[in-house]
Amino acid sequence: MSLRIVVCVKYVPDATGDRHFADDLTVDRDDVDGLLSELDEYAVEQALQIADEADDAEITVLTVGPEDAKDALRKALSMGADKAVHVEDDDLHGSDVMGTSLVLAKAIEKTGYDLVICGMASTDGVMGVLPAILAERLGVPQVTLLSEVSVENGTVKGRRDGDAASEQLEASLPAVVSVTDQSGEARYPSFKGIMAAKKKPVEALELDDLDIDADEVGLAGAWTKVDSATERPARTAGTIVKDEGEGGKQLAEFLAGQKFI
Ligand SMILES: Cc1cc2nc3c(=O)[nH]c(=O)nc-3n(C[C@H](O)[C@H](O)[C@H](O)COP(=O)(O)OP(=O)(O)OC[C@H]3O[C@@H](n4cnc5c(N)ncnc54)[C@H](O)[C@@H]3O)c2cc1C
Repeated sequence: MSLRIVVCVKYVPDATGDRHFADDLTVDRDDVDGLLSELDEYAVEQALQIADEADDAEITVLTVGPEDAKDALRKALSMGADKAVHVEDDDLHGSDVMGTSLVLAKAIEKTGYDLVICGMASTDGVMGVLPAILAERLGVPQVTLLSEVSVENGTVKGRRDGDAASEQLEASLPAVVSVTDQSGEARYPSFKGIMAAKKKPVEALELDDLDIDADEVGLAGAWTKVDSATERPARTAGTIVKDEGEGGKQLAEFLAGQKFI
C-alpha cells in the first residue's frame, strides 16, 4: 500500500520586508510579500527522500493561509510533491496556534495520512509547538526535532540532537514528526519541476468542508490575545568616530558607555 505523507507548509511574510501590525493587532499579511517558510523546505526535502526509499508513496503538501499561500504550495510542488491542499476561509483571520492546528488536523484526517512532516518552527511565529499540538489532536505519536529521519516497515525512526546527547527515537505509523534545519539541504526546484508543478492538483477547502464552526477559529476562537504592540523605533544614523589621533580612545569610551566592555 502506498505510504501517504502529508507535509505542513506555512506561507510566511518575507522577513526582509517591512512588516506591520494591522489595526486589530494581527500581522498585516496583505501589505508584505510572502514565501514558503524556509524551515518547511527541510520538511519537504525529507518527505521526498522518504518517498524515494519507499516502494510507493504519495506526498501531499498542506497549508492554512490566505490566497497568496498558493505560492508556498507551488514551490513545494515544484520541489517534487505530488499534490496540494489549501485551506482558505475569511473566518480564519486571527486564528492562533489552537485554531490553526485544529484546521490542519481536520484537513489531514480528510486527506488521509500515514506520516505527517512539519518544520521545526515557522520563521514568523517561531513557536515550534504546532507539531506537538497536531499529534495530540490526531491522537498519534509525535517524534519532534529530528535531524535524521527514515521510515521502515511501518515505523518512523530518527535522531534528535541535544546539547548533551543524541537520542534515537522511533514511533509506529501513523505519526507526526518535525525536522530541523540540520536534516539535510533542501533541493532547488528544477525547471522541469517548476513546469510540472503548474499541472499538479491543488484542492481548495473551506471551514464548512472540514465541519469547523467559525467561532472555533479566528480571533473569536483564539486562546491568546495581543493586548498592545509598539512599532520598532526607526534606525538612527549611528555614531561615527573620526580618527584624528584619539580614535582608539573614543571607540573604547563609546563601547564602555554602551556597557559592551
Ligand atoms: C491568515 C492567518 C492569520 C493568522 N492570524 C494569527 C493571529 O492573528 N494571531 C496568531 O497568534 N496566529 C495567527 N495565525 C496563525 C499563526 O500564523 C500560526 O500558523 C500558528 O499560530 C502556528 O504557530 P507558528 O507559526 O509559531 O508555528 P510553529 O509552532 O513554529 O510550528 C511550525 C510548523 O507547523 C507547521 N505550520 C504552522 N502554521 C502552519 C500553517 N498555517 N499552515 C501549514 N502548516 C503550518 C509548519 O510545518 C511549521 O514548520 C494566522 C494564520 C493565518 C494563516
